Amino acid sequence: MKRKEVNSSRMPVYRDAGFELHDALTTADAFKKETEHSREPDNYIYSRYRNPTVVSAEEEIMKLEGCNWALLTQSGMSAIDTALSLFQYGKETKPWLFFTEIYGGTISFIESVLKTRRGLDIHYFTPDNGKYNIDEFEKVISGLKPELVYIESISNPMLIVADVTEIVRIAKKYGSKVIIDNTFATPWLYKPLDAGIDIVIHSATKYFSGHGNLTAGVVCGNDKEIMQSAIEYRKFVGHMLSPDDAYRLQTQIMSFELRFSRQCDNASKLAQYLDNIPLIKKVWFPGLKSHSTHLIAEKLFVGKGYGAMITFDSNGKDKNEKRDRRDKFIKLVSEKIKLIPTLGDPHTILMPVEAVWGTKYPEPGMIRLSVGFEEYSELEATISKALEKIKC
Ligand code: PLP
Repeated sequence: MKRKEVNSSRMPVYRDAGFELHDALTTADAFKKETEHSREPDNYIYSRYRNPTVVSAEEEIMKLEGCNWALLTQSGMSAIDTALSLFQYGKETKPWLFFTEIYGGTISFIESVLKTRRGLDIHYFTPDNGKYNIDEFEKVISGLKPELVYIESISNPMLIVADVTEIVRIAKKYGSKVIIDNTFATPWLYKPLDAGIDIVIHSATKYFSGHGNLTAGVVCGNDKEIMQSAIEYRKFVGHMLSPDDAYRLQTQIMSFELRFSRQCDNASKLAQYLDNIPLIKKVWFPGLKSHSTHLIAEKLFVGKGYGAMITFDSNGKDKNEKRDRRDKFIKLVSEKIKLIPTLGDPHTILMPVEAVWGTKYPEPGMIRLSVGFEEYSELEATISKALEKIKC
């Protein structure tokens, strides 16, 4: 069959495992240059090293995050592993400090891989009354002098916003690198690299993909040396994203800002609405004045929005009544709002907090909503109809 160039307007899916290098000279040159770990090689060698469809999707993320480089991985977890492992130097590795309000899967990774298997010296920093105390943080970091500090911009499910500018200022004073998981805030609300963060990671499975149909992660930064070691690490452990997923991500990310801004608007309206319902005891949403980190959210997100996640707890005379109301709510909305354990989907979806986090958050009626970009009035109508029925 004759090959022919097709006038495609976008980067196609290159599924080649290995790329044709033609002769020994080109091969030698490609492998020599490979040691430079450039983001976009002159000659592609092997898709686990670099792939043109993946590189093209990375460029879309670089535009959004406003950064010098972005490296896609198979999942948010492999992005986290890549970012963290760059600071592991065998016996020379200094302690690592993790803020505790981070994704449960990251905590499991820390406990079962970093501590148990790799034997790393891990420390945690916990919030106080729903907020990280910056003076306490300085006390801890000045004594520990960790290699790195790991935070999330907006935590899950309490939606605690970290005071990133202050955390970076203090971490830099004591020579620590800072890695942030910016999945919940996204670059639309906040670009942590502007504040001096060393590495930003995302679960691209969520808002970047936005359709709940692929798993991907990304590591972003500005520092060339960090990029080179991240490229090397991703290649050696095989964390590279597949070209098919990169293609779909590249396509879906084009509507990211449109989707996410609408999701944030819907969430702000819904949080206000829920906050005025007597059947609901408490609503956690950084846009509400009652949230412990509302002022930090205002400072960082400068009025653009407050994210698209809401957690709320129902009223009830005891834990059983609260659980009962939670279960009724889940059933009554289930046709429109499904229980799906992810976030960032087109439609609003939910998760019962106790079923996932156990007793970590002791209110059994708690439900976490990932607000979608559906028509707001329909969303409010679904919820208000369910709440009316529960009240009866
Ligand atoms: N970071 C956050 C904040 C998450 O919510 C998740 C998954 O839910 C991850 C990282 C892990 O991402 P993935 O599931 O794409 O590996």
